[in-house]
Amino acid sequence: MDRNPGRWPGRLFLPISLALVLAHCLASDAPTGERAGLTRREPPASGGAYALVPDWPALAPEVVLGETSGVGVDSHGHVFLFHRGEGPSILGLDPSDGSVLVRFGEGLFENPHGLAIGPDDEIWVTDTLRHQILRFSHDGALLQTVGVQGTAGDDLAHFDQPTDLAFASTGEIYVSDGYGNHRVVRMSAAGEPIASFGRAGSGPGEFELPHGIAIDAQDRIYVADRGNRRVQVFDREGRFLTAWGPEIFGVDSRAWGVEVHGDRLYVIDGGHMDPSRSGFAQLTRLDLEGRVEARWSRYGEAPGELAWGHDLAVGADGAVYTAEVRIRHRAQKFVPVAE
Ligand SMILES: [Zn+2]
Ligand SMILES: [Zn+2]
Repeated sequence: MDRNPGRWPGRLFLPISLALVLAHCLASDAPTGERAGLTRREPPASGGAYALVPDWPALAPEVVLGETSGVGVDSHGHVFLFHRGEGPSILGLDPSDGSVLVRFGEGLFENPHGLAIGPDDEIWVTDTLRHQILRFSHDGALLQTVGVQGTAGDDLAHFDQPTDLAFASTGEIYVSDGYGNHRVVRMSAAGEPIASFGRAGSGPGEFELPHGIAIDAQDRIYVADRGNRRVQVFDREGRFLTAWGPEIFGVDSRAWGVEVHGDRLYVIDGGHMDPSRSGFAQLTRLDLEGRVEARWSRYGEAPGELAWGHDLAVGADGAVYTAEVRIRHRAQKFVPVAE
């Protein structure tokens, strides 16, 4: 454990000069994809909506990210990453430069997966091989586990490779479960599983790998139904409302992660995992009726591109943070460009 609240700066919102960021961006957009065997291409189309913040996060040399599977932003603007590398699995970052403010969770996890910020800025994560949800205080004390460690199951006492979780206005918690069960589990605010909905399949209300979950202010639930290549929308009781698929996200798309911020839905598309294909791996911002407002990035390993984009989060200022699992060391930050 590396918990040192004294290192938390008192003032965390350093104003970002967008002009400075953009100037830096223009100066450093040389493609680096050749190193990874990619051909030189034009910078990713952004639709003019978002710009990459270059060289974010600024990690100290001793901090090496592994596959980065989860990302969340707390009420202070702190950015939390959940990754599969050596050392502490959870990092709390300063949003302005990405420097590490706190890190914890070393030696605990078998396969880090989803991360969400709960009430009181607690950090909740899923581990697909532990088959559990783990809850931490803001400073990294392990407070609770839900599910049976190392034992999968499809009743309410067990999960089967749970992927993500989200919080309703009631405090209730919804878990996408997962690689094994193809359902959503509803839990009380105290983390007691109370019901589930969904089953394996491709019809309305059925799932093939529910991989990410988010909830809006009206308690509508958005599930990244990865294998079925769509986002499904439910009410708080789990009744199917609608679904949005390739007609919105692209013919080879797979929604891997979803995030609601205000009256907008953000979707990260990890794609079909075949890099020889194209036309996927974008970030999409929609209104809550499913109308596309912005779309940017594409598959690749150059800065600003995405390689198996796995999760995303949005700051109060509208900055979008992404986590990828194909390339180690990779979390990225995009900021909205004034239109
Ligand atoms: Zn914080
Ligand atoms: Zn995953």
